[in-house]
Amino acid sequence: MTPKNRICKWYQCCPIKFYTDEKKLDPYWVDNYCLIGNKKCIRYQKEEAGESHPDNLLPDGSIDSLLV
Ligand code: SF4
Repeated sequence: MTPKNRICKWYQCCPIKFYTDEKKLDPYWVDNYCLIGNKKCIRYQKEEAGESHPDNLLPDGSIDSLLV
C-alpha cells in the first residue's frame, strides 16, 4: 500500500487521475508518478511554476491527443 504522504498533492484534482478512473488512461502514469509523488512529472512542475497546461498533457511531457 502506498503511504499517503507520498501521493502527489495535486492527485485529487488532477485530470490524469480522472482519465485513469474512467479507464481512458493506462494506470502506468498514476503508479509511476502520482502515487509515489514523482516530482519529475511535467504537470507537477508546471503547477508549481503556475504555468497553464492542457488536461491531456501526460506526466512525461507528451500530449495524448486521444484524451478528451
Ligand atoms: S499527473 Fe503529475 S501533477 Fe498530476 S497528480 Fe500525477 S504526479 Fe501529480
